[in-house]
Amino acid sequence: NTEVINLYSFLIARMHPHICKKKHTSLQGERRNMSHSSDGPSCPLSKSFRVDQDVTRSRRDNRGCFVNPWSTWKFPSNLTLLRFCLLDKDNSNIPTCKEVLDRELPVLEPYFIQDPQEVGQTAMGLRVTWLGHASVLVEMDDLVVLTDPVFSQRASPVQFAGPKRFRGPPCSVDQLPRVDAVLISHSHYDHLDVNSVMALNMRFGKKLRWFVPLGLLDWMRSCGCENAVELDWWEKDCVPGRNDVAFFFTPSQHWCGRTLLDKNRVLWGSWTVLGPHNRFFFAGDTGYCTAFQEIGRCFGPFDLAAVPIGAYLPRYALKSQHVDPEEAVRIHIDIQAKHSLGIHWGTFTLACEYYLDPPVKLKEAMQQLGQDEDKFFVLKHGESRLLNPS
Ligand SMILES: [Zn+2]
Repeated sequence: NTEVINLYSFLIARMHPHICKKKHTSLQGERRNMSHSSDGPSCPLSKSFRVDQDVTRSRRDNRGCFVNPWSTWKFPSNLTLLRFCLLDKDNSNIPTCKEVLDRELPVLEPYFIQDPQEVGQTAMGLRVTWLGHASVLVEMDDLVVLTDPVFSQRASPVQFAGPKRFRGPPCSVDQLPRVDAVLISHSHYDHLDVNSVMALNMRFGKKLRWFVPLGLLDWMRSCGCENAVELDWWEKDCVPGRNDVAFFFTPSQHWCGRTLLDKNRVLWGSWTVLGPHNRFFFAGDTGYCTAFQEIGRCFGPFDLAAVPIGAYLPRYALKSQHVDPEEAVRIHIDIQAKHSLGIHWGTFTLACEYYLDPPVKLKEAMQQLGQDEDKFFVLKHGESRLLNPS
């Protein structure tokens, strides 16, 4: 039995960095039970968007585990996993030489370290800074929002083993500017890092609002985070005192787990942030599904979307859970993004494609689908871009 569990652990770890020593999650947490309607009095934006009655809601199986409600979802069989882990050639070819990496994927010092007084000074615009993988800092509508913060060297329950980052974080938690809200897409180790959560909580405490998927609130509290809210798909909440900016948890096609025992006990999803001047969409980690058309219909157009473009090969093993660049462009179109940033690449070794391929394939896909290729861009680690400056 131990051998079977060990093999299973290995397979899962190869697919996604998720073996853990300690069970953290529970379904018992108290949560904010928000109305599914977007017409609540708390949000003055309610006239400009509406959650349709026929959007896809979250679903659980008879054991209480969340399931993907789309026909495009299929979890790979054990045989498929075995083939992926043992037989597939890894073409990522990440250089071991630091000079080559510094040339191909430079890590820049984010602007806010030298110019902290500039933070939040975006007027009607939106500034985005890529901090590697799925960690993105967004300044919009006088709020600073951070997505899936991972500042550790490994996406793993332990820091001596597990997928190591080949490009370090461009700054530390201590070097971040003021952060008002953190969005968590799901509990996989490359998106939810206990050390980063602890460091952010140590620095900002109750002032920092955590928006997390349904089922994760107990875990957040076990880390000491008091100002956290867990949401089901299509529910909304806000940063206390800032009712003019709505944070909706929206669907994605993925799965989650941090231990051998907690698979899909916590929901996964994307985040939609609707402010008076800007709309931001964070896709998290996802396969392609019809959810994005629903999100576009309810909340589009978006000023900026952060959409994954990496960790997609081989398709037979990863298609359900990770989009490839062409599917990322379909999301960009479905949600009606004016601009998108490619994330979830160039940081951790998670899949088999050549490490520099995601932005190249993204450009090709934008051309093939008749899109203006400047509208879906990538940034260097630590680099920023200001959109819609007035
Ligand atoms: Zn994941």
